[in-house]
Amino acid sequence: MNFNGRLAVVTGAGSGLGRGIAHLFGERGAKVAVIDLDEQAAQKTAQTIADSGGTARAYRADVSKSADFDAAISAAVADLGPLEIMVNNAGILDGYFDVDEMDEALWRRVIDVDLSSVFIGCKRALREMLPRNRGRIINMASVAGLNGTGGGAAYIAAKHGVVGLTKQMAVTYAARGITVNAVCPGAIPTDLRAHSQKILGEGVPDMSGRGVNASEDQIRALIPIGRRGQVEDIASAVCYLASDEAGYMTGHTMVVDGGWRAK
Ligand code: NAD
Repeated sequence: MNFNGRLAVVTGAGSGLGRGIAHLFGERGAKVAVIDLDEQAAQKTAQTIADSGGTARAYRADVSKSADFDAAISAAVADLGPLEIMVNNAGILDGYFDVDEMDEALWRRVIDVDLSSVFIGCKRALREMLPRNRGRIINMASVAGLNGTGGGAAYIAAKHGVVGLTKQMAVTYAARGITVNAVCPGAIPTDLRAHSQKILGEGVPDMSGRGVNASEDQIRALIPIGRRGQVEDIASAVCYLASDEAGYMTGHTMVVDGGWRAK
């Protein structure tokens, strides 16, 4: 699987899943636009790709703000060529708060970052892709986009929204040469919780004691494959959906969870 110099934009690529996805695209010959709120982290990912012989540039943007996101995509296209692959991956946790405990400001912020940013990213990508009648869009959902567990009320609602948006777009743009798919990871060790707490900042309740903190033994009992998922497991699924080989797949929600949800 070689991406032959095609431009792949990956949001939230300064850390975790996005970083792993960006690295794999870089290894496989894509030109990678690394977008993140954290400029230094984005630079570091781009530098690692360049150090391994790949092509990458870093762009700072808050993907929940359309002007910011738009400017980053415009710069990436000017620097690296036509947009072929768009990965809307950036996201935050909501602290696992239920509806009765969550205030409206937290709800709106999480919906903005986890769902509206995907709409903004897809809309901006279509502006590049529709005139060329080709493109691949991959949206990062979660098993929390298919179940009522794995996050709080806003996170679960946002990820269900990402799945719905992905399906609507898949149906709409299939005949225009654009595939739109979602990936639904199980629990993968990253710094998601710490970053979410930092990004949401003051006034957001401490989320450190919330959610599931499963031990290795519990993971082995829960997950049929018998190990924790890794960033690379998700990166390879995203790269597959971006590849020519996946040309007949659209509107799919690809669950990558070691068989957890199949139980
Ligand atoms: P992470 O915190 O390691 O990485 C997320 C990155 O997104 C960070 O670098 C952060 O700075 C960036 N980001 C956050 N808000 C942003 C914004 N508004 N604009 C631009 N960048 C922003 O977390 P991760 O686990 O790699 O999460 C990536 C995605 O995967 C998220 O959408 C998350 O919901 C999803 N996901 C993660 C898991 C998991 O277990 N880690 C499971 C299912 C889904």
